[in-house]
Amino acid sequence: MSDTLNGVTLKSACERDQRDPLAPFKHHFALPEGMLYLDGNSLGAQPLAARKAVGATLDQWRDELIKGWNQGWFDAPERLGNLLAPVIGAQSGEVCVTDNITLNIFKLLGYITGQAPLERRIVLSEGGNFPTDGYIAQGFCQQSGFEHRFLPENALLAEHLDGVAVVVLSQVNYRTGQLRDMEATTRLIHEYGAEVIWDLAHSAGALPVHLNASGARFAVGCTYKYLNGGPGAPAFLYVHESVQNGGWQPLSGWHGHAAPFAFDADYAPAGDISRFRTGTHSALAYTALEASLELWAEVDMNALREKSLAMTNLFRECLADLFDARGIEDITPAARQRGSQVSLIDNDNGYAIVQALIARGVIGDYREPGLMRFGFTPLYLSFEDVWQAARHFREVVESGEFKDPAFSVRSAVT
Ligand SMILES: *Cc1c(COP(=O)(O)O)cnc(C)c1O
Repeated sequence: MSDTLNGVTLKSACERDQRDPLAPFKHHFALPEGMLYLDGNSLGAQPLAARKAVGATLDQWRDELIKGWNQGWFDAPERLGNLLAPVIGAQSGEVCVTDNITLNIFKLLGYITGQAPLERRIVLSEGGNFPTDGYIAQGFCQQSGFEHRFLPENALLAEHLDGVAVVVLSQVNYRTGQLRDMEATTRLIHEYGAEVIWDLAHSAGALPVHLNASGARFAVGCTYKYLNGGPGAPAFLYVHESVQNGGWQPLSGWHGHAAPFAFDADYAPAGDISRFRTGTHSALAYTALEASLELWAEVDMNALREKSLAMTNLFRECLADLFDARGIEDITPAARQRGSQVSLIDNDNGYAIVQALIARGVIGDYREPGLMRFGFTPLYLSFEDVWQAARHFREVVESGEFKDPAFSVRSAVT
């Protein structure tokens, strides 16, 4: 085994770990022995504190039963929202942890279009985005009589904003890792008299997000990817404080009522971010997420960004000669326009290469068509991990290991 990959030595990677201010965070995560996990952009790793916290909540359920709702369970959506707010550049009272992204987009679409001028009847979502954002926009339009349109991929946004009430955009594209300029884009959309819902699925916890400073009024995101909240962890929704009193959101359930326990016949929305709640949530799921968010409170987001870019660069540097030789296309955007992932295209062998890597314990994922996706999570990956993952990638490709027919069998979740 060589200890140099395209001129990058293992020793140089290990030296970077010694200088890394975020290195101690790795000890706060439970990571399976021998696994190199480059899929934290799909499901984040487990913080050690999550197991303890969920255990304590199980005890609380056993010992306190219904009283638990007055012991922190009921207020969790707002309390966790306030913990999350600094990570995404928001203020206390502007973030509610609730439901999932799909439902939160629906709620915001209804809330925003309920106040839209009559001549604005179009809901625009992005071609090439994660499909649920478009699906739910279409579902909303079926119900509401608004017209759904796709913004073609790579189209100029300004040419598609006439008559638009609201646009749904991802800050970081899930396939390419392309990062949008949130401030300039928000300004442009507002100048055209429309609103934008930012989807932070691949940016929250991946890089510093500046919602307030960018002029953003609405955003959604999930917590099970870079934020390590656990499988099916509740999502979040952000509404700028200045636009929180605009009327109903369409999923007007009892937890979003001004007085949930008055049991009034008629709905009246809460006067703050709580109006975006719907119904009863899972106390256990919130507990696991809260343990993770307490860890995030300690993270220097600028250091996180610096390490993320250094890791994605290191991985690509170790393999650049191989990509050239094998016709693998590296579509990872330039540093300033990049999320926290490396995106590689190989239409013929991409799926099999990812499967062969998984068999070696190097976990990335595959997205049609041809895309190999590797997420880099600065809290629990070291530079040595990155170097070793690159070594496996090189060995899998150079040896032809991926050609084993077993690696071409498709499973349900890729
Ligand atoms: C992961 C992801 C989602 C997931 O939506 P859920 O409703 O939380 O399952 C939505 N949008 C984008 C852009 C994503 O990457």
